[in-house]
Amino acid sequence: MSTPRPNHAGIGMTSARTRDRLVQRLRDQGITNLSVLERIRNLPRHIFVDEALASRAYEDTALPIGWGQTISQPYIVARMTEALLAGGMPEKVLEVGFGCGYQTAVLAPFAQRIYSIERIEPLVKRARARLKELEIRNVKLKHGDGMKGWPTQAPFDGILVAAAPLTLPEALVKQLAPGGRLIVPVGPEGQQQLLRLTRRESGIHREVLGPVSFVPLLAGLG
Ligand code: SAH
Repeated sequence: MSTPRPNHAGIGMTSARTRDRLVQRLRDQGITNLSVLERIRNLPRHIFVDEALASRAYEDTALPIGWGQTISQPYIVARMTEALLAGGMPEKVLEVGFGCGYQTAVLAPFAQRIYSIERIEPLVKRARARLKELEIRNVKLKHGDGMKGWPTQAPFDGILVAAAPLTLPEALVKQLAPGGRLIVPVGPEGQQQLLRLTRRESGIHREVLGPVSFVPLLAGLG
């Protein structure tokens, strides 16, 4: 897993048909942003998982990436990306809990600059290698506690949180630029809701996007 595998084309699991099937499934489930669907079709997902799981990389399912964490389900990546982009393309994005870096890579072409934080250090190294392999250069990755946000880079036009806090982290809400959107799953296991908070002149506007299932957002470093 740690050595780059530059040859991501030409093996069976990356076949156009397998990817088309995944994209069709996402459409069937209500994803409508064509640019996001196209990005998911074109981005190799199998390079983000262990070789033993690569044949399942284009199934619409979360898969283990080690350290008790998972690569997010393509549907949820599409849903969150779509929710973040609705209302315009964000310039500066903060991502909390980048794990293997797949969501980061999906998002990369849609933002000018992405700042991403992950609390498990070995995952940071692996994600860095994958993004380099894909020649993604507008992302800054760091090892840290994303619950505190990234104050020196704030404010952000978009904030995407890939793990669920029990309650809304105020530090993240504070780091939203005017018009900025925060996409975050909130709640205990089995009762999480995906929220979108938008900073408007009148205050914070809150939308409930629906029930979801994420690993917990943990304080401190892994
Ligand atoms: N979208 C990622 C999902 C990874 S799962 C992917 O597709 O790979 C969520 C990640 O959030 C895990 O890697 C976990 O370690 C991380 N995480 C949990 N709490 C965190 C925190 N406080 N700060 C940064 N990362 C955190």
